[in-house]
Amino acid sequence: MAKEISRKGHEVIILEQNSRAGEETSSRNSGVIHSGIYYPTGSNKATLCVEGNRLLYEYAKGRNIWHRNTGKLVIASTSEEEGKLESLVENGKRNNVEDLELISKKRIHRFQPEILAESALYCPSSGIIDAAELILSLETEVQQKDIITSYNSEVEEIEVSDSTGITLHVRAEESFTIEADNVINSAGLHAVDLARKIKGIPEGILPKSYFAKGHYFQLSGNHPFKKHLVYPLPTKDSLGVHLSFDMSGKVKFGPDVFWIEGIDYSFNESRKDDFVSAIKTYWPDLNPDKLFPDYTGIRPKIYGPTEEPADFVIQTSKQHKIKGLVNLFGIESPGLTCSLPLAKKVANLLF
Ligand SMILES: Cc1cc2nc3c(=O)[nH]c(=O)nc-3n(C[C@H](O)[C@H](O)[C@H](O)COP(=O)(O)OP(=O)(O)OC[C@H]3O[C@@H](n4cnc5c(N)ncnc54)[C@H](O)[C@@H]3O)c2cc1C
Repeated sequence: MAKEISRKGHEVIILEQNSRAGEETSSRNSGVIHSGIYYPTGSNKATLCVEGNRLLYEYAKGRNIWHRNTGKLVIASTSEEEGKLESLVENGKRNNVEDLELISKKRIHRFQPEILAESALYCPSSGIIDAAELILSLETEVQQKDIITSYNSEVEEIEVSDSTGITLHVRAEESFTIEADNVINSAGLHAVDLARKIKGIPEGILPKSYFAKGHYFQLSGNHPFKKHLVYPLPTKDSLGVHLSFDMSGKVKFGPDVFWIEGIDYSFNESRKDDFVSAIKTYWPDLNPDKLFPDYTGIRPKIYGPTEEPADFVIQTSKQHKIKGLVNLFGIESPGLTCSLPLAKKVANLLF
């Protein structure tokens, strides 16, 4: 985002509370380059994902970032699920996702012989990327553009005035303040919390933040899977416990959905039984002894377990009346895929 803003002629400073970039959600995800099939047509998630998919492949190729265009199978195990699969295909087509196909059991077995399913949605544009390499590449580009990144710098408070613009109070080894014309609050899991610290912001326009942890289990040793990602049908709050690969070709499964009160990355090993049941619906030959805890990530949600899913919220002065402030809320999946077009969109909102 800093790069896109700098391209518009602004002087940019990145304030990061951690000692390195990407220590939170951006490095605790599935690393899937999503296609855009799931999201409501016309939503930020849908439009940015379809564009982001194309841009991310181009960027990864151009910068030599590890990625694979694996393709993906979303599988149906029952006739009821087959109906849902058809709706998904229609939604994907409305969102301009190209080359979607419903495929038969026979063809599924050609792609992934061990997978049990009645039919599947084959989505060729899905893939995987090494998020750590992506972050490093973006960070390097930012450095090359002489954009200052101030690490170990936590924005504690934001004041707004007609004469001086926006003033940020930053806690660091030596605390400091910065005056800015534009401020982008892209604080991920902390974004709503940070917005509450902006003096004068109307409380009523801020969403409530919720945290939904996802666990990942790794499969040890050899496995029979070829290149395609395998997903069950999505649930309201997640895309389901899916099968994907890391850079070394190791298989991982996840993430599940586990609503939590605060930010806590601890791994709850008792989730294993639920994982085994979920995986066995599409891979009955799983040997549970080969599943090991891997890592967790936390979705920055702005809707709760009993509420309808929300789109990414990009809040500007139209909503909060504070000139130059952009709040980004609820940037959960597919935020990694959307990152490049989202950056362009935000840069175009600044004055
Ligand atoms: C389990 C899981 C799986 C996912 N899988 C995928 C996937 O396969 N594909 C996909 O496209 N997307 C996926 N996502 C979504 C994607 O990871 C996120 O949308 C994206 O990483 C969000 O990036 P961000 O920059 O908004 O947040 P973050 O990466 O969390 O960055 C926010 C930064 O702000 C900093 N910060 C916060 N508060 C302050 C403050 N007060 N002062 C200074 N700095 C501050 C934080 O330290 C942090 O570095 C997944 C997410 C999760 C949780």
